[in-house]
Amino acid sequence: MAMWRRVASLSPLIRSSSSCKLAFLNQVLTSPASLLPQVAYRLNISELFTTEVNESPLTKKDLFISFVLGGPGSGKGTQCAKIVETFGHVHLSAGELLRRELISNSECAAMILNTIKEGKIVPSEVTVKLIQKEMESIDNHKFLIDGFPRNEENRKAFEKIIRADPDVVLFFDCPEEEMVKRVLNRNEGRVDDNKETVKKRLEVFYASHLPVINYYSQKGKLYKIEAVGTEDEIFERVRPVFAAFEHGPK
Ligand code: UDP
Ligand code: MG
Repeated sequence: MAMWRRVASLSPLIRSSSSCKLAFLNQVLTSPASLLPQVAYRLNISELFTTEVNESPLTKKDLFISFVLGGPGSGKGTQCAKIVETFGHVHLSAGELLRRELISNSECAAMILNTIKEGKIVPSEVTVKLIQKEMESIDNHKFLIDGFPRNEENRKAFEKIIRADPDVVLFFDCPEEEMVKRVLNRNEGRVDDNKETVKKRLEVFYASHLPVINYYSQKGKLYKIEAVGTEDEIFERVRPVFAAFEHGPK
């Protein structure tokens, strides 16, 4: 009985069918805690999305995509700035795009804020569309996508919507104590840089990001960077990864 009450209370969301609500609904229905008959609903919901997926104009460009992964405070943003400066890539932080969206008063704002505060992962449809919009609006073919994909679903949604695979996947490998220390010291006014949320973000990192990192390791695309040291020391470990592509095929 409880299951059917839950379905009934979700029906207004289904009817209104805006993309943000659908994305949220998709997440609720596919969450392990859901009481709903998951397989059947997953099928229905994914059918709703297939109509929204058009061929991306990005497929026409000669893209060079790098995913930059690592736990909270592992130095992704800092090193991306150095890669931009040295190799002329465009830095696109998924977390920043979401933070920008949440102050823009969009219909997704409240959902994004709650998800970030909980250290959880925003539904892929929302994040990938923000990334897509940004990529399409920038006249450069070298993109550093920082903090994404954070789980297997993110990865598959990117492949499906953007229709591209990364050329490079950087992973900043950093001990947990160091990551926690950096996050709690950075003082950038983020709602999620506090002890309680960092603990949750780390749990999500181990459970959801690591499978993505392992996937790219098996594909031979992963470059693991030891993320302890000064910013310059770490960049000297990053530099050869991109230098090798400078005179390569792309
Ligand atoms: N986030 C998300 N999907 C993404 C990127 C970020 O849901 O693709 C959310 C998630 O809640 C995460 C937060 O934004 O904890 C901050 O992400 P960011 O990459 O800025 O920070 P990091 O955790 O790497 O320090
Ligand atoms: Mg960051």
